[in-house]
Amino acid sequence: MIEGVVLDLDGTVYRGGDPIPGTADAVARLREAGLGVVFCSNNPTGTPAGYADRLAGMGIDADPEDVVPASTVTRDYLRRHHPDEPTYLVGAPSLAEYLREAGQRVVETPDASVFVASWDERFDYTEMRTALDCIDEETVFLGTDPDRTVPDEGGPMPGSGAVIAAVAGTVGRDPDRVLGKPSDEAADAVLDRLGVPADRCLVVGDRLDTDLAMGVSRGMATALVATGVTAAPAPGTDSPDLCHDIDDGCFTGDFVEPNSLGPEDIRQQPLLGSGSYNCREPTQPPPPPFASPFRS
Ligand SMILES: [Mg+2]
Repeated sequence: MIEGVVLDLDGTVYRGGDPIPGTADAVARLREAGLGVVFCSNNPTGTPAGYADRLAGMGIDADPEDVVPASTVTRDYLRRHHPDEPTYLVGAPSLAEYLREAGQRVVETPDASVFVASWDERFDYTEMRTALDCIDEETVFLGTDPDRTVPDEGGPMPGSGAVIAAVAGTVGRDPDRVLGKPSDEAADAVLDRLGVPADRCLVVGDRLDTDLAMGVSRGMATALVATGVTAAPAPGTDSPDLCHDIDDGCFTGDFVEPNSLGPEDIRQQPLLGSGSYNCREPTQPPPPPFASPFRS
């Protein structure tokens, strides 16, 4: 039986500034059915409180505790493993402020023992030089999330994955760890918020290599929506447990009665309200989303 649902945000709940039609109702239906809901985004520039406000503006109540962006996964990783260590950040000013507020010592000079690479629209050659100055074999090199691109109204923009790869290419080694989905740290965070076992969770998202990969890595049920970056897979290809097969890929949330269906049942439902779904066998985890310049 499914008791908790992890909802991706961009491309699943909203797209750019606009809610995807039906998502507020979908979240309400899940809650009415007694399921826990957490929201999980790989965008490292926003805070849980900021996302909760944004969701409220779309008619979706969310406690900031139930929102897990990549910024929070990164903050918690630093708190746990590198508290008090000088940390150099290539990232958005909002992320720097969030980490500082949490007590992390974010420094402006390259004599740091931790280097965090993230989505930063100001990233340039100077930052690559700083990375060379800062990162040696002893430096902890982290990425906030692996998303190579982020959707924008004018088309995809370079995301954290692009910056991480540029830094990795500059310093000649891979990051020690990339947080956000599908990392273990992100999976632990959402499961901790939901408080239910992984095999009673469903992950809903628009990306196979992050949202769905995180679910598959822990044995969660997975659902792919066609409202974001991924078109519905062709029949017969590797696919999530559930995927939309026609033109309206919205997640509608009215697919499951509380305490009644298991993943096996869900795979057999012609479900989720609007449109029909193909139900296929669970897939193997896709390859890691961070494309290392150094691994063949
Ligand atoms: Mg998404």
